[in-house]
Amino acid sequence: MSTDSDPFEFATRIAALDAARQRRKLRVVEGVDGPRLQVGGVPMLSFCSNDYLGLAQHPALIDAAQRAAARYGVGAGASPMVSGHTAAHAALEEELAAFVGQPRAIYFHAGYAANVGGVPALVGRGDAVFSDALNHACLIDGARLSRADVQVYPHGDVQTLERLLAASTARRKLVVSDAVFSMDGDIAPIPQLLALCERHDALLMIDDAHGFGVLGPGGRGTAAHFGLSSPRLIYMATLGKAAGVAGAFVAGANAVIEWILQSARTYIFSTAAPAMVAEALRASLRVIDAEAWRREHLLQLIGQLRRGLAGLPWHNPASPTAIQPLIIGGNQAALDVMAALWSQGLWVPAIRPPTVAAGTARLRITLSSAHSEADVTRLVTALAEVARTRPAAAPTSA
Ligand SMILES: *Cc1c(COP(=O)(O)O)cnc(C)c1O
Repeated sequence: MSTDSDPFEFATRIAALDAARQRRKLRVVEGVDGPRLQVGGVPMLSFCSNDYLGLAQHPALIDAAQRAAARYGVGAGASPMVSGHTAAHAALEEELAAFVGQPRAIYFHAGYAANVGGVPALVGRGDAVFSDALNHACLIDGARLSRADVQVYPHGDVQTLERLLAASTARRKLVVSDAVFSMDGDIAPIPQLLALCERHDALLMIDDAHGFGVLGPGGRGTAAHFGLSSPRLIYMATLGKAAGVAGAFVAGANAVIEWILQSARTYIFSTAAPAMVAEALRASLRVIDAEAWRREHLLQLIGQLRRGLAGLPWHNPASPTAIQPLIIGGNQAALDVMAALWSQGLWVPAIRPPTVAAGTARLRITLSSAHSEADVTRLVTALAEVARTRPAAAPTSA
């Protein structure tokens, strides 16, 4: 019940989150050295960052940011549509387009902004968006904001998608999908999605937040991994993960990108990212190109981890990427495993509903090329010890 001391029942609802073991907790990181963090004065080895190539502290990126800060200052001061679009941003956009082999690219200050602004730029009332059930929150929100009819198809289910596309009478049809799913690490059936779009006069927008820099020849991402290119493909990727900096871009045909520039509200009505971020990203693209060993090392660590997890009582679904889920089941059980690892200086996040389906609370282990083989061994050994001393709880207990 709402009271003066608890308007809108905030305190009551927070207590309910606590009771359901769904309340999230912020932790303050005091120092960063790759995956080695200082948290509350204690050294922690992290398996939760999306800095897959270990570039966030690369000297070439830091140097580029510092030089740009000296030249442009630390803030862009205005929207890109006014005076916030510097030579650094312009060069970055050209280099991003060339990097992924698309005619043109537009840079946004965040991935969330790219999708929440990009989807409504592409479709509106009278159109339809077809969205994978496990898509990222910002694709879901972008679809809702667009006012198009939203049709959610079961995860990876191209048969159902085909049926929905065939039945749709919408003026314009847009299929949106994560390229690599952020909580499971699996790859979308992008060649099939694209073929369906070609057959049903639709466009395909993929969000490659977790594939860019990691998958494909030279880290060109998931479309390159499949060797795909088509005027019907709109490629979006974020740059705060493997690229190690911040922001995102959308790449595609000239007219598509020009249209997004003209109409994406998160681009037009929001201050541009600082030029130093753009320059750090330009340096990042060069490192992604030059230091192929980072991807090779990451692949080795993925193989090592999966072999180790195979001996544990929890399911590690197939994932060829740096995201390795370990399904524990109940919320409390997942939190208990996380706490046991935490007490040994290992930070692996427990992901609970509503982020993932009820009964599939899990550890989301992410690897980085900044990890060593010994780091992965330490994690697997600790998990084996937890499994030995703490038998898995009933899988569906909340
Ligand atoms: C992280 C993520 C985003 C958001 O990108 P930010 O730059 O962090 O705002 C978008 N899509 C997916 C799939 C992501 O994992």
